[in-house]
Parts: sequence; C-alpha cells; structure tokens
Amino acid sequence: MAYPFVESPNVTRANGRPIDVVVMHTMEIAERPDAAQICARWFASPASQVSAHYCVDAGGVIQCVREKDIAWHARGGNTASIGVELAGFASQTRRDWRDDYSSAVLKHAAALVAEICRRRRIPVRWLVADDLPVGRRGITGHVEVSRAYGKSDHWDPGDGFPVEAFVDQVRVRQQAQRRAARGPRARV
Ligand SMILES: [Zn+2]
Repeated sequence: MAYPFVESPNVTRANGRPIDVVVMHTMEIAERPDAAQICARWFASPASQVSAHYCVDAGGVIQCVREKDIAWHARGGNTASIGVELAGFASQTRRDWRDDYSSAVLKHAAALVAEICRRRRIPVRWLVADDLPVGRRGITGHVEVSRAYGKSDHWDPGDGFPVEAFVDQVRVRQQAQRRAARGPRARV
C-alpha cells in the first residue's frame, strides 16, 4: 500500500537488507489530528538525527523512510528492522490506549503491521529482548531493543501498551488482507 511520503534524510542507505523485526514506538507527541505530520517533520529535519519508517496517528499513516533503507529509531536494533511510531506517550495506561484516539491509532497500525508482516513473511508474534540477539523474527517494542542491546534507555511503547490485543488485531487484519488478496471465491 502507498502512504503519503515525507522523506527523512536521517537514514543509512541499504540494498537488499534482511528485515526481521517490526519495532513499535510512541512518538511522545500528544493525541492531536496532525501528530503523524509533526513527527514526520521532525524526522525530515537533519538536526533531529532520528527517523522511523512510518508515523501513525488517528487519521492514518505517513511514511518517512523507504523500507529498503535503515531508519534511526532503535539504537542497536536498526539494521534489520522497520520502525513504526504511534501517536501518544509511553506513559499511557491500558485505559488511555482504549480511548477513541488510541483505538484509531492501533487500528491503522495493525493494518500497516499486518501488511508489512505478510509482505516480508514475518511471523505475527511479540518478541522480547532475549529473542532479538538470536535473530527471531516478529514484532517488538523499542523497550525490548533497549534491553537487548543496552544502547538506549527508551522504554516505549510503555507498560500500558496492549501487546496481546495488538498482536491479535494484527492477526485478524492479516487474515482479512489474505482473503481480499485471494479475491471472491468462484461459485459452483
Ligand atoms: Zn522509541
């Protein structure tokens, strides 16, 4: 799927890199309609020295880095990953993640991550820190990359992030995408 593209210069060019992990982040930007735009603008500034492949808010997705290139989002874990930034804060509680705005963010993010995993044949499962250095493939959070490699103290997307519900949602979206890709069944 093609998303609006706001290019970030903060990338390491790569060609044919393996992509094993999708890393979820929170932007630390408030729940506002233009959160993804604000985040993308920050990534577009050479001064920020950070980037991610995708920024997601309640309205949808903006892409900032081509998947083939390495974004600068999770120190130690950038080389083989895709970074996804969610509007909101790591300090959000379970309940905060259930409000209308976050529900919309998670819905867009689930569709995006489902599509990435399907295209890249990445298993839809949550990885913890110990899984990463041994090369397991799946979805994880910035906090697990920080724990695995000790190069950052970032703990997003936070303890309140609904890991299981999100992975379930990705799975459901992926099933729907697979059905759509197969097209309508022939009637006999
Ligand atoms: Zn992060």
